[in-house]
Amino acid sequence: MATLVMKFGGTSVGNADALGKAANIVLEQAHAWDRLAVVVSAMSGVTDALIQGARTAASGDGQTYQAIFSELQARHQHAVNELFSSEGDRSDLLVTVDQILGEFATLCHSVYVLGEVTPRAMDAITSIGERIIARILASLLHQSGKGCRAVDATELIVTDAKFQNAAPRMDITRKRVPDRLLPMLNDGVIPVVTGFIGVTEEGVTTTLGRGGSDYTAAILSDCLDADEVWIWTDVDGVMTADPNLVPDARVIPVLSYSEVSEMAYFGAKVLHPKTIRPIIERGTPLWVKNTFHPASPGTRIVLDPQPVDGKIKAVTAIRGLSMVTVEGRGMLGVPGIAARTFSAVASQGVSVLMISQASSEQSICFVIPSSTVASIIQAIEEEMALELTRMDIDRVWSLDDVVIVTAVGAGLRSTPGIDALIFGALGHANINVIAIAQGSSECSLSLVLSAEDAAQAIKEIHQEVILSG
Ligand code: ASP
Ligand code: MG
Repeated sequence: MATLVMKFGGTSVGNADALGKAANIVLEQAHAWDRLAVVVSAMSGVTDALIQGARTAASGDGQTYQAIFSELQARHQHAVNELFSSEGDRSDLLVTVDQILGEFATLCHSVYVLGEVTPRAMDAITSIGERIIARILASLLHQSGKGCRAVDATELIVTDAKFQNAAPRMDITRKRVPDRLLPMLNDGVIPVVTGFIGVTEEGVTTTLGRGGSDYTAAILSDCLDADEVWIWTDVDGVMTADPNLVPDARVIPVLSYSEVSEMAYFGAKVLHPKTIRPIIERGTPLWVKNTFHPASPGTRIVLDPQPVDGKIKAVTAIRGLSMVTVEGRGMLGVPGIAARTFSAVASQGVSVLMISQASSEQSICFVIPSSTVASIIQAIEEEMALELTRMDIDRVWSLDDVVIVTAVGAGLRSTPGIDALIFGALGHANINVIAIAQGSSECSLSLVLSAEDAAQAIKEIHQEVILSG
């Protein structure tokens, strides 16, 4: 019994045209597989709009959420009107759209009255986009004569109660998914499941975190013992660099899980490492494909111990960062300075993107989002008050407007000289490197650069190391 799980991202269901293409892809694959399950995201931009509605309502603005309601209503109605020829299907769906969006308006009204939005309310509100699209796509497939049913993931994926970033409880979920979906799948009915959403044991809606519909696909593939997972998006696969920045960026044909995790961590808009963990653990083949060019092969993501081809595969950047340095001559050989520095950072709920300490031990530097700098410096100064008065630590300071540019490729692990190529490329362009760190997975090299050098650095590395590698 060959089983495929396919997930369509926001742009792949973003309007009538995209939904039509997604439906054709599903119909085509329905012939090729014994069992096929589909996961959908909300239309692109819808989750953001829902969040904005909730936040503005919480801050006492009674207008914006109503305007958002009307926009979302118009957008979904427009898609339905374009897609459905039969009057019955169309009017049923229009009623459904109004009903579900009506919940959004009601919830936002309560938020407005209360003047606050709890994480729990936020999940009820943000789940709305996926709920509508699952119904639209399911009806569209049905209209084409295919047995199909919209399924809310609240029937399938049980999570903890950490609203907005819930973790699946796989013990229960592993039982619920097959109980609910196998009868459908065995009858040749395609379930169209809402991505992103889960439910607590008590029946309260949760969400799996932004971008969580990939996670839904991974969870379902695990529970259904799928043979493959295909993630449909709006690019031809995972790219060597951001094509907006580097026009000759290319599709990467094969990536390993550690490479793709490293890329996601360092800012490329690809799969979140957490979301693909259930797939990695089982070694299920995973593809990233383009809804708008279904014939192009896409990127295949494979298990790690693959023959390493000695290459850098991609270069990516995270912007909006600052580098904080704790420095002082009295730090040499004193145990615990790093531990205390980072527990001060952790006390502010901030996660560190990159760390570098020279072996002279006279400074530790690390990179964090710029928005968190003031609170971090204050927390470290409080923690190190004694060392600062004794002048064992001279100062804690930040360099703002930096980026982390990361080159990713398992080749870094085994091919001497690749680092030199990267530094050479930057040297030719006269770009100064502020700090470096080689990931312990040894499949990424991260460089802290001044923000104004980022675009040039990416182009140079792409040209000299990736294209001619
Ligand atoms: N719609 C959700 C989001 O925008 C989930 C997803 O797209 O994966 O985060
Ligand atoms: Mg997404």
